[in-house]
Amino acid sequence: MEMLKDRTGACLCGGVTFRISELAAEYGSCHCKMCQRWAGSAFLGLTVPDETITIEGGENVKHYQSSDWAERAWCDTCGSNLWYRVTAEGPYASVYHVPIGLLDDESGLQMSREIYYDAKPDAFTFSGERERLDTAQTLALFGVK
Ligand SMILES: [Zn+2]
Ligand SMILES: [Zn+2]
Repeated sequence: MEMLKDRTGACLCGGVTFRISELAAEYGSCHCKMCQRWAGSAFLGLTVPDETITIEGGENVKHYQSSDWAERAWCDTCGSNLWYRVTAEGPYASVYHVPIGLLDDESGLQMSREIYYDAKPDAFTFSGERERLDTAQTLALFGVK
């Protein structure tokens, strides 16, 4: 997988900024209802291991525990969604999922997978061919029985 170096990002007001030292050039789209409510539509998220991200302005970050296994964060000043983060043990423990729109430079990124595809509204479809997983396939991917 292609890796991108030193990508920076920020919320709308700039109160929270971050630098990702090494970023996979592929990202996923989640169509689950929780992400729809949180992100306003599909959540287009980068997968960012915690040891590769440096966050500044942490005092502006608020968290909501959205399930037993994950939390969602936002900027307390401007309301921008900052990340979805797995809090439970497992292969994705502590990994950040950061919206691609926060990046200053979004070039070179490719959507490689869509999950919870059966929950996608009829109102839109992303063009192009990629792996599309329904709810059962998504749960299997994340090791949920
Ligand atoms: Zn902000
Ligand atoms: Zn989701």
